[in-house]
Amino acid sequence: MDSIAAATGLVFYPKTANTSDYIYFYHSSSGNNSYIGMQGGRQVINIKNVTNISVIMHEILHSLGIFHEHSRTDRDDYITINFNNIKQEKQFNFAKYSESQYTGYNTGPFDFNSLMLYDGIITDPNFVINPSVYTITVKDTGRPTVSGSTLSAGDIEAIQSIYGPPYHRLETTVDRVVENFESYYEERYQAWVNVNIRFYEDKACTIPVSIQFPRIIRLAKHWSRTNAQGSLSNDITYETVVVPEGSTSIPIDYYLMKEIYQYSNPIDIDRRDYSVVNRHVPELTQY
Ligand SMILES: [Zn+2]
Repeated sequence: MDSIAAATGLVFYPKTANTSDYIYFYHSSSGNNSYIGMQGGRQVINIKNVTNISVIMHEILHSLGIFHEHSRTDRDDYITINFNNIKQEKQFNFAKYSESQYTGYNTGPFDFNSLMLYDGIITDPNFVINPSVYTITVKDTGRPTVSGSTLSAGDIEAIQSIYGPPYHRLETTVDRVVENFESYYEERYQAWVNVNIRFYEDKACTIPVSIQFPRIIRLAKHWSRTNAQGSLSNDITYETVVVPEGSTSIPIDYYLMKEIYQYSNPIDIDRRDYSVVNRHVPELTQY
């Protein structure tokens, strides 16, 4: 965690009594694996090789939302994967993210030094059929790939494409108040609300900047509204926004916020509060 923090600017905080979403390291007897992205609640990272810092960093990167380098959509231009040597139940570790329901994004050029690229020689009998056969080779040379032992420049870019720098902030502005009326039986407040995400060079979000890499931002939308039965309901939905490179901001919503009550009963409510959540890939584990 110290190495990742030093290289990227990420800050890891110890869990407190108020922390609801956190990672939990478990000394596993079976293997090393992690979910990709935040799942919510206590999120286990299994570590078998507890003295291997590269393995631990690899699994932490999965929890931060980073896929395998060999899952890139363009990987077949650079490497050859010998699927005949990979056990059926482990083949998902070699799937491109375009081949699954999960969203991944190629950041920068294919990176042969990535901590997230497997060694081409895999000897684990749980993984491969014949340990003496190369599982991943470099297209140009036929030599086996070599996993990075620490964060590469490309790994740092991938982490920063999610967490910054540059940093992002949700900004809500009220464009125009439509009507603000009160009578003995009715209270009414309406306004046009504009929600944007803006990008900044600094953590304090004072210096605007355009982003160098496409960003994937996941939003939680807390919604209060009157339902068809006329009573007030609250729910939360999640949205994933892909922001193209070169953007300084991206529009999220522009809507008429309404709170209308008659005799203090809500009759027409539409109020939305957004928050940014970390990248969240449901229920996908990688080794
Ligand atoms: Zn992995």
